Amino acid sequence: MGLDPTTRVNFKRREFSRRAALGLGAAGVAGIAGAASFFDWFSKWRAAEAPADIFPGDAPKGEVWELWQKRGWVKEGRHYLQLGRNVQCKVCPNNCILEPGDRSHCRNRVNHDGTLYTLAYGNPCTFHVDPVEKKPLFHFLPGTQTFSLATSGCVFRCLNCQNWEISQKKPEETKDPRGDEFRLKPPLPPSLTLDQMARLSLFPEDAVAVTEALGCPSIAYTYSEPTAFYEYTQDTCKLARERKLRNIVVTCGSIEERPARDLYQFADAAHVDLKGFDEDTYQKLNSGKLAAILATLKTLKELGVWCEIINLVVPTYTDNLDTIRRMCAWIAKELGPDRPLHFSRFQPQHKLTHLTPTPVETLVRARAAARAEGLRYVYVGNVPGLAGAGTTWCPNCKRAVIERDLFAVTALNLDAGKCRFCGTKIAGVWV
Ligand code: SF4
Repeated sequence: MGLDPTTRVNFKRREFSRRAALGLGAAGVAGIAGAASFFDWFSKWRAAEAPADIFPGDAPKGEVWELWQKRGWVKEGRHYLQLGRNVQCKVCPNNCILEPGDRSHCRNRVNHDGTLYTLAYGNPCTFHVDPVEKKPLFHFLPGTQTFSLATSGCVFRCLNCQNWEISQKKPEETKDPRGDEFRLKPPLPPSLTLDQMARLSLFPEDAVAVTEALGCPSIAYTYSEPTAFYEYTQDTCKLARERKLRNIVVTCGSIEERPARDLYQFADAAHVDLKGFDEDTYQKLNSGKLAAILATLKTLKELGVWCEIINLVVPTYTDNLDTIRRMCAWIAKELGPDRPLHFSRFQPQHKLTHLTPTPVETLVRARAAARAEGLRYVYVGNVPGLAGAGTTWCPNCKRAVIERDLFAVTALNLDAGKCRFCGTKIAGVWV
């Protein structure tokens, strides 16, 4: 008789404790070499086998749970397995297994009485109107604004996260369901108080109505991680598509194939953060798996979703030029030379405040390597004043077809998606 998945997880935890004790004991006897081999084994085991780190017994209870339900912020999850009273989420490769009362790795999902629920439905903790260039998307409706929203939570634990104040928080740490319901819909107030933001509900139909009222042609699911608020993203995307709005998913790309296909059938553009090209570094820096991100990039290509890639160059983690070259070669071969790639400059933040910003010459070298591997549209971000860093060059006549100053388009030399100077088609979504 096989073990059920929960037993397997418990077995792994026990086995880990046992081997950890043995390994540490061995280090004392056999010296540094024994310790090194143990840690080598441990890091491989952790990358390949470790169960997601969840929050046991941390699901909301009593009044908080009731208020959350009353608000409509609780919804049954999609893509999960019931394992007796336990559940296993299959949305992202973390595959969290939750006992009743547990909270997930991404903080947004809980097992309540044997059912998986999201707590992040219709309750964004932030929203803004941004230029689409800020996502950054440089080949998608340039010069337009996008209504951008996020809830708390993330499937990753990036050491360098820029938005950790929301991505590494539970929904209950960003919202407060007490008081009167506050549902944002047109006509829009000129501003919101912090108290209103804490109570704010923005259900899919509200998000679509607000986007239309603001005159934005698209909605962006961004800032934290849309995979962590999957059901909310998917329902909003579906409704937005029906209303002829475009959907932009800004993501780390860590999602299982089935939920990816179910979501991205409604997406018009994706911005994928390819954080490196080395499994060990992905595990250390982001708690993620490179193979899963590459699979998502291929799925997006197959589905025909317009996709741009960002790569943050973090000193000592992801600044190895050979690795960058391998990444660019993979993009050119698997996704094609027209896939835009944005190198971005790291700034010390979150848990990496001891590092220095990426040297500009490293970024310039990375850009040259990408071009040498055949990529046609390569950009450098977060370096104000670097000439041509955000310019789109025609791959045929080499003239500037789109010029940008930070997130503003300053020159647009395109006619129906073709270079105005030589008529070459420029890859992207232009209308
Ligand atoms: S989406 Fe959240 S709950 Fe689901 S597997 Fe990923 S981290 Fe776990």
